[in-house]
Amino acid sequence: ELGKGIAEFYDESSDLWESIWGDHMHHGFYDAGAPATITGHRAAQIRMVEEALRFAAVTDDPLKKPKRIVDVGCGIGGSSRYLAKKYGAKCEGITLSPVQAKRAQALAVAEGLQDQASFQVADALKQPFPDGQFDLVWSMESGEHMPDKTKFVGELARVAAPGATIIIVTWCHRDLSPSEESLQPNELNLLKKICNAYYLPAWCSASDYVKIAQSLSLEDIKTADWSENVAPFWPAVIRSALTWQGFTSLLRSGWKTIKGALAMPLMIQGYNKKLIKFAIIACRKPM
Ligand code: SAH
Repeated sequence: ELGKGIAEFYDESSDLWESIWGDHMHHGFYDAGAPATITGHRAAQIRMVEEALRFAAVTDDPLKKPKRIVDVGCGIGGSSRYLAKKYGAKCEGITLSPVQAKRAQALAVAEGLQDQASFQVADALKQPFPDGQFDLVWSMESGEHMPDKTKFVGELARVAAPGATIIIVTWCHRDLSPSEESLQPNELNLLKKICNAYYLPAWCSASDYVKIAQSLSLEDIKTADWSENVAPFWPAVIRSALTWQGFTSLLRSGWKTIKGALAMPLMIQGYNKKLIKFAIIACRKPM
């Protein structure tokens, strides 16, 4: 089943990713059209976090800044620890991968953040938290894994405190034109191959997310297409896989990881065809 595949995929591949790319398992944000520098990728990943916070107008004001944060689909906790430090907040991360949860916790201890960041294996669609707990609800590149987007956003809204900010940064497919019922067969075909490789269920568009947020009475709903800003990312990941270290680690990692690596050019194709969109959706839970 899907959840098991996701857990195994990240159990298997997270070490390799960390050894080459560090603790942020998400796209970097680059100036559109500017050439990416080889050393700039880590900075671009941090910039992604900062751009998301800025887009959602999360405040640095000591009185109003987030104090309790949930990181839904936390990977090895790169965002959690960054946000916990930045805001002096408490952050709880959930992931389906036991290996990730353990590694995230170990890194928190190593950084002296054990009282501020904690991690557990849990399902985003059935979060182990009571209602109305968090003033920042953060999902960085996990939404694309969720088989039920309505339930997903519903859970984000449920655990959000009144007035909380909800930020979803995720892979989407392009918006459909008014005359279209669905994507074109060749587009569906490409997405199917990508979904197979990365343990993803069917995708939706950014405007589908907006509709879901509206149906849940969320407020200040904003969305943007950052596809141009992430364009240098996949070529950089491919280059890193083609280094000696990348290549040998890849061969040692396992079949799920290799399958993922082989699908990387498909992501570039999807972006080039304007089929894949890198989207941010931000909103607020009513007071
Ligand atoms: N947000 C992290 C990791 C992104 S990778 C980062 O930016 O570094 C996608 C993450 O989503 C993985 O940790 C995976 O375990 C998690 N995930 C996917 N489906 C999930 C689900 N149903 N419940 C909880 N986590 C999920």
